[in-house]
Amino acid sequence: MLSLPEEPRQALWQQVAQRVEKYLSSVEDLPVAPRLDVESIRSLIRGIDFERPISPAAAVDFAANGLTRHQVHTPHPRYWGLFNPAPTTMGIAADTLVAAFNPQIAAWSHNPFAAEVEREIVQRLGGLFGFPLESIDGTLASGGMEANHTALLASLTDAFPAFVTEGVRALESQPIFYASSECHHSFPKAARLCGIGMNALRHVPVDGNLRMKAKALEQQIRTDLDAGMLPFAVMATAGTTNAGAIDQLRAVSEIAHRYGLWFHVDAAWGGGAAFVPELRPLLDGIERADSITFDAHKWLSVPMGAGVFLTRHRDILHRTFRVPTAYMPKDAGDLDVVDPHLHTMQWSRRFTGLKIFLSLAVAGWQGYERAIRHQTAMGALLRHRLATEGWIIANHTELPVICFVRPGVTEDQLQAIAKRVVSSGEAWISTTVLAGADTVLRACVTHYGTQPEHVEALVDTLEKARRAVLSEAAASA
Ligand SMILES: *Cc1c(COP(=O)(O)O)cnc(C)c1O
Repeated sequence: MLSLPEEPRQALWQQVAQRVEKYLSSVEDLPVAPRLDVESIRSLIRGIDFERPISPAAAVDFAANGLTRHQVHTPHPRYWGLFNPAPTTMGIAADTLVAAFNPQIAAWSHNPFAAEVEREIVQRLGGLFGFPLESIDGTLASGGMEANHTALLASLTDAFPAFVTEGVRALESQPIFYASSECHHSFPKAARLCGIGMNALRHVPVDGNLRMKAKALEQQIRTDLDAGMLPFAVMATAGTTNAGAIDQLRAVSEIAHRYGLWFHVDAAWGGGAAFVPELRPLLDGIERADSITFDAHKWLSVPMGAGVFLTRHRDILHRTFRVPTAYMPKDAGDLDVVDPHLHTMQWSRRFTGLKIFLSLAVAGWQGYERAIRHQTAMGALLRHRLATEGWIIANHTELPVICFVRPGVTEDQLQAIAKRVVSSGEAWISTTVLAGADTVLRACVTHYGTQPEHVEALVDTLEKARRAVLSEAAASA
């Protein structure tokens, strides 16, 4: 039963394709968010007992029904969430092919096609961000977390070559790296994973636009140098998760350069701006980065698990990750190619690049340019409509993520509004805290199919929730 005979197998593929098609064509009719009922989910799953195997058809129905009923539908045009896209059709098809062919891309020679597709993605994306073509290198990763972790390891390796063999004991003092106080939390986590500890990260304060204060960065570097510490990297953010803020990349890069520090740009989501000529200037200076994080599973809308790490240093991944082995295949020993396992922290690795490559192959640069421009326009429309309805926009960005508050509405009431919106099933939004102080509502255009009617629907849903929360407050006063 590990493999079905041909006839039932074909029936299974049809069933899977039908379930996928049904989901994609009717997701808009579903409540955006599920009721969170732990017990009913657990008992549903416990109903499948491995002592008594079920039919393939029943297994597919079990999975598709469970996913339909118990997830936040990120492919819903009224999901205004955390950069989780509706997946591209070609991405879904690519992931299916990858599962079936099961390429192993630890060694180049086991799947030269897959390895070269990924190499090409790295080259083209590196070129898009403005890296000099002859020096581009990089690797596909599981996501932004792994790409940022890779950046931290690469910068440590570059600054302290003995780190590779001796670890942190090779360092004569405390290593320090810098990121804004609005940076992604993958950095403190990566610091832990690298063994340098979370206190190696200095959170640089932000300005009124939530961008790293360049002056404060420089002062902090000097203070740390004076104290005998070992600054080694600056991690700028292009598109913060909270509010889409983009650090002043050029100014930050100059400071990093002046002090000989690795300059990384976390453009996991905001890197999408590079696809649209009128948005590209927002990323001015990213071409000077030593490395970049870009998540194809965010603004390129490919299915989950598609991060990209890019660098302008051809040898750094090799120096960071290469561990020679006797057993890995040597079939490609005479060729001028790279075995991926020598360039990443993964070993056996899924062919992540295909869903990016096929999505780009079919949409083209232009298709992405149009989609990202459209989402940006929907963000501008939502910002405008919220403002005309009396909300105050709390963040300044051209990217389609909007943080907003309301005069006279308390923080608890904002939380209650978000909760009501989510439990209505009409939309998914969230709250966050800007600059560590101000609670805001947050709505991000993550779906390339979001239209003005969805914007209007959100404005209505918010108004209903606001009235309900305020009248409850009045009743209990
Ligand atoms: C999403 C995000 C990350 C983390 O990426 P994952 O793909 O979730 O691992 C890192 N940095 C920024 C700015 C992000 O938006």
